[in-house]
Amino acid sequence: MHSDLWVEEKFKDFLGLRFKVEKILFSGQSEFQTVDIVETKGHGKMLLNDGLIMVTERDEFAYHDMITHLPLFTHPAPKNVLIIGGGDGGTAREVIRHSNVEKCTMVEIDAMVVNACKQYIPQTSLALNDKKVNLIIGDGVKFVKETSEKFDVIIVDSTDPIGPAQPLFGEEFYQDVYNCLSDDGIVVSQGESSWYAIDIQKSLLEVLNRIFPKCFLYNFSNLTYPGGLWCFTLASKKYHPIDDFDKQRVKASELSFNYYNAALHTSSFALPSFVINELKSLIENNNSKM
Ligand code: SAM
Repeated sequence: MHSDLWVEEKFKDFLGLRFKVEKILFSGQSEFQTVDIVETKGHGKMLLNDGLIMVTERDEFAYHDMITHLPLFTHPAPKNVLIIGGGDGGTAREVIRHSNVEKCTMVEIDAMVVNACKQYIPQTSLALNDKKVNLIIGDGVKFVKETSEKFDVIIVDSTDPIGPAQPLFGEEFYQDVYNCLSDDGIVVSQGESSWYAIDIQKSLLEVLNRIFPKCFLYNFSNLTYPGGLWCFTLASKKYHPIDDFDKQRVKASELSFNYYNAALHTSSFALPSFVINELKSLIENNNSKM
């Protein structure tokens, strides 16, 4: 029998992104969200939380490379790393490839995301069983408020600011993040799209600028998030991701990448004019002082 199954992510009331589905692998409802994993025709396995695409096998490397390697090659010696969210495991997988990282703590609120990814998307989740990864099922907001540990790099690999991820875009959370970063620490966060969510980018950057001395926005492109051109924010107590970046460390690491490289590390901070005009002083650090 001919099956014509498609999955569609709707964005507001004016956009839909459709993907041909070969097979539904998992569908569940957790305490926090719906969790679905489907086998698509063009993009491999796909994870959706509340109907929003989180990862696909075809392009997840773009997101995970850029959320991870950019801060870990900006900080000269990151040893202790914290991930908030990141339930599919792709960010943890990239973090532990860095030989100087001794420990990677990951705090994900939803066990169903972790378990479903472990079972159906081993390509992204395989690192979650690694001995360097300390996986905690819990609320990242509570964790950063209560921990006494200090982290060199914190990666906020979260969903959009809806439900349990809403506080992950707020000032109280980032004040707690600041407090549990080491004196030269860096935080990188999922920073939405300048095409469709520049208002969220503005409010996140306003929060970060009130707390951190140096704040930045950088780009990457992908296939499956509305807008295609997507961003991460980077807030730093000390290091400038362009001026303090030693590209020799990338070469010396002998790591290979499918998206990240030393040239993209710096060029990803070059933003389109409509973004610069809208965000103005919130991203003035994006310019190199050199
Ligand atoms: N790349 C993704 C994206 O933006 O589409 C993000 C991927 S990852 C699956 C996001 C995770 O953040 C989800 O699994 C969600 O459960 C988790 N999350 C949301 N709020 C959280 C919180 N307060 N604490 C910890 N994890 C949270």
